[in-house]
Amino acid sequence: MSRKYLIAGNWKMNTTPSESVDLITEISSLVGQQSQVQVCVCPPFTSLHKASSLVEQSQVQLGAQNMSAEPSGAYTGEISAEMLRDLYVNYVILGHSERRQYFGETNESINLKVLAAVQNNLKPIYCIGETLVEREENRTLDIVKAQVIEGLANFPLTEVENLVLAYEPVWAIGTGKTATDEMAQEVHAYVRGLLTDLFGDIPGSSIRILYGGSMKPENASGLLSQPDVDGGLIGGASLNAKSFCSIVDSAIDK
Ligand code: PEP
Repeated sequence: MSRKYLIAGNWKMNTTPSESVDLITEISSLVGQQSQVQVCVCPPFTSLHKASSLVEQSQVQLGAQNMSAEPSGAYTGEISAEMLRDLYVNYVILGHSERRQYFGETNESINLKVLAAVQNNLKPIYCIGETLVEREENRTLDIVKAQVIEGLANFPLTEVENLVLAYEPVWAIGTGKTATDEMAQEVHAYVRGLLTDLFGDIPGSSIRILYGGSMKPENASGLLSQPDVDGGLIGGASLNAKSFCSIVDSAIDK
């Protein structure tokens, strides 16, 4: 089953709208017209409006970093799926470990967002991954199993082609510590098995599973060579156009 690599940049709470314009302009020009690898950037909400007009003519797609599960109404400070679609947003990162850790998100609450995303033609990038303590207690596979099963409950088979997962070991995010190629592949293969159990062999094999956690130009090639690693969700290194696009180049070379 051939899966197109996706390299997605999670800019987190960085860049003003005008800084986002500069960064997207540089990334778009470095990415050029290649279409072998899909590229997506996820700036803060406040940059999406300017960003949407910039990416129109480019191979770079737009993603958001979160959204509400609710369609509209009295939810002060929230952003709906429809608002994102109106800005030509394609992807939405859901269940990032920082949202689980600091904003109380759970597999159950994230599940509602995942379902709302696909109902509104947004592609969820659903993040899963274990903490350091969970890894040290040999609970990694149990944790990701619960995240996959509970976070994807009631996910419609007809939307599987729009689903992306990102395995992000929490201990590797923003720490400079990366999972070894073998550690990443072990969890990705396990998650692939869960997805084929849930959706069937062919649909499960078509879902992309990204790796995230201190991915950078120096380690991207090894990680992207693993059979079940279908791209990267990049934090820190996505804020520098050259570093980010060097990871895109590593994926093009595969
Ligand atoms: C992330 O936040 O999704 C991430 C992977 O961050 P970093 O690349 O900085 O570890």
